[in-house]
Amino acid sequence: MKVKFMGAARTVTGSCFIVEAGGRRFAVDCGMHQGNKEIEKRNWETANYEPATLEFILITHAHIDHAGLLPRIVKEGFRGPVYATPPTLDLLKILLADSAHIQEMEAQWKTRKRLRHGERNVEPLYTQRDAEATIGHFREVCYDQAVSPVPGITVTFRDAGHILGASILELTAEVEGGTTKLVFSGDVGRPDQLIIKDPTAIDAADYLFMESTYGNRDHKDEAASLDELAEAVAYSYQRQEKVIIPSFAVERTQELLYCFHLLNADGRLPKDMPVYVDSPLATAATEIFHRYTAYFDDESKALLRRGEDPLTLPQLRFTSSTEESMAINTAAGAAVVISASGMADAGRIRHHLRHNLWRPGASVVFVGFQAQGTTGRRIVDGAKSVRLFNEDIAVQARIFTINGFSAHAGQSQLLAWLERFRSPGLRVFLVHGEHEAQEVLAEKIKERFGYETAIPDYLEEVTLKPGGEIERIAYPEQAAPRIDWNYLLTDMEQRLQHLRERQTRLESKGWVEQTDVREKLLELNRKLTVLIAEI
Ligand SMILES: [Zn+2]
Ligand SMILES: [Zn+2]
Repeated sequence: MKVKFMGAARTVTGSCFIVEAGGRRFAVDCGMHQGNKEIEKRNWETANYEPATLEFILITHAHIDHAGLLPRIVKEGFRGPVYATPPTLDLLKILLADSAHIQEMEAQWKTRKRLRHGERNVEPLYTQRDAEATIGHFREVCYDQAVSPVPGITVTFRDAGHILGASILELTAEVEGGTTKLVFSGDVGRPDQLIIKDPTAIDAADYLFMESTYGNRDHKDEAASLDELAEAVAYSYQRQEKVIIPSFAVERTQELLYCFHLLNADGRLPKDMPVYVDSPLATAATEIFHRYTAYFDDESKALLRRGEDPLTLPQLRFTSSTEESMAINTAAGAAVVISASGMADAGRIRHHLRHNLWRPGASVVFVGFQAQGTTGRRIVDGAKSVRLFNEDIAVQARIFTINGFSAHAGQSQLLAWLERFRSPGLRVFLVHGEHEAQEVLAEKIKERFGYETAIPDYLEEVTLKPGGEIERIAYPEQAAPRIDWNYLLTDMEQRLQHLRERQTRLESKGWVEQTDVREKLLELNRKLTVLIAEI
């Protein structure tokens, strides 16, 4: 039996593992590669996946980094069924359409630019039509019911407690006269997340493919998050300004609604403070959540039984048209605005930031991870102004960063999940994590459980032999380009500029103690020289 790592190998995005067993060939997940330009090039190399020879695809959950390449694979000749839970498939219908729209817009924008240079059109990675064609391949699988897509392969989807419908896959293959069991963790949720259940404990496997996003750290003060949200509300309500929350459309927005529901029940959300969900995608996702309350955890179900819907509150408004969205900012008074994207680098949230970021008394609340290079990250990092719609907007609103909303298990939670396995010979492959995080986690696993743990690289192939023996074949020359040097250089140059400005400011104030700044400058200069030499 062979497993090939098509993505999420020493990086977080692009989850896809191609399995060959007993003459069968299929994939677990089919995620989009996201991050920098070098990594995103992999989205165009789908010929490597040999889509026409894949018999079926199992999808752990609806996130784009796990399912976003499906339309491309279908476009390139995949003909088989795609198995996932009903909520995952419903979420995918809206998320893939949205992703196709983004691909088309991006291609249009690039084409316009290219035509001006006398060059050829740019094709989108896939279109709305490809996304629609993908839906025809969907097959529903319920949690805890074993299915057999082809003779010899059986798979059971278990609740992963990550987002609605997310799954851990238990897969058994009858090969070479014996049974081999593989477990794919997908993304493992944080226990006690709002709305959804805790991750299912799995007790046996021969081989485990485990995510490691937070392999080197734990989440901070989870209980304090609700209080911080209440503080932002009180702060801006007193000043009759707005609370702006950049949020992901799926799960995070619904968790926020749950939090506001709790605050409202506690009397900590003023009755005359409207809460807007200003994102058509988030609105559609919230409707899907309402359809699948059977998947909610006991606390949420208890609320529902008492006639309380945890995803609604009297002050809640969903806005769909652009006019309604614009009207939020023309109306005076306090309000909460939840809008996408979650990292403030696209979508309606940018308009809300332009209107509110410069207003002392307003609040901006970050509730999710902010990647390097995004507007959200710059604000979190303390920028005095950010560029929005070709204008520098001063940051005078109060900035809150709330850490307690992660949908991923932290390091100790991952280890606690792993502790439930009762398989002495378990072999672990760490996937879906940055390399540094994976190395730390691999060490912990070896130390605590003694399991042999590998960190496969991009396009690496492993042969899993009976009796737990493993043979690894790596292709380092293909795996190598994962650093976007241009981005790194620009980032370094920006930091250098920032430090130079700081030094000038300090000097103009006549401050003598500047050794730390000078040392940092020297160190950055050194790093920059090394980088330039390497390019
Ligand atoms: Zn995920
Ligand atoms: Zn993921």
